[in-house]
Amino acid sequence: MSPTSSSPRVALVTGGSRGIGAEIAQRLARDGFHVVINFANREDKAREVETLIREAGGSASILGFDVSQAPAVEAAFESVQKEFGNVEVLVNNAGITIDSLLMRVKETDIDRTLDIDLKGAILCTKEASRQMMKLRKGSIISISSIIGEMGNAGQSVYAAAKSGLIGFSKSVAKELASRQIRVNVITPGFIQTEMTDALTDAQKEFILRGIPLGSFGTVQDVSELIAFLASDRSRYITGQVIGINGGMYM
Ligand code: NAP
Repeated sequence: MSPTSSSPRVALVTGGSRGIGAEIAQRLARDGFHVVINFANREDKAREVETLIREAGGSASILGFDVSQAPAVEAAFESVQKEFGNVEVLVNNAGITIDSLLMRVKETDIDRTLDIDLKGAILCTKEASRQMMKLRKGSIISISSIIGEMGNAGQSVYAAAKSGLIGFSKSVAKELASRQIRVNVITPGFIQTEMTDALTDAQKEFILRGIPLGSFGTVQDVSELIAFLASDRSRYITGQVIGINGGMYM
């Protein structure tokens, strides 16, 4: 299939196979985008999301590539452009966390975290921005974390990657603004996912005491914010860091 003038606008969600990314992919499809669902290993999960979108009347495809590998990222964006057209919305969602106190952290875990969480977003932003320049518009949204703003014991490397995304995005926002390409960051707090499901009741209670709104966020809370930032409703917003954390960090 080659893109035509009536083809839907294209959104690419990295790590769209599970968790927050899976919900974002479905939300953007409801807004009429053709959504490219990226995954690293869980093709089965990516297929499930693709099927849900198609059953709901939307348009989606899946694309496996490792965001930290430049040649794979370049090839992936090229294939999307050929098949569906220039990417107009990029959501840098793929991410991992390998928790460890600094004293015990292994070099391989430092490299892996920075490679996926920070370098991956840089590589994808580079490729997407080339295509957005052709469109003379676009929206790039990177999912950082509250941890990148306030820090957390045992998550120093993750925090380094996530706060790195903020400086990166503000710089790119300045580089691309004249082309009407907007670049923003969101910083979720505790969002109900497999990760929070694994916490004990005592841990959950402790965390909830620090959240003024008194509950964890949902993946829908995050996907609504992404849908807004992806749309023209946010046309005057660029270079911003938007917290979505129930007031946990102000
Ligand atoms: P998750 O459920 O663990 O899903 C991670 C996603 O990233 C999966 O789709 C995974 O693909 C993909 N991925 C991992 N490594 C990749 C790579 N090298 N290349 C391409 N894709 C890769 O994560 P989540 O909890 O939804 O979090 C999503 C984002 O939100 C992350 O950036 C995370 O740091 C951030 N965040 C989450 C929370 C929270 O409370 N959950 C809070 C703040 C920020 P496969 O399925 O193929 O493995």
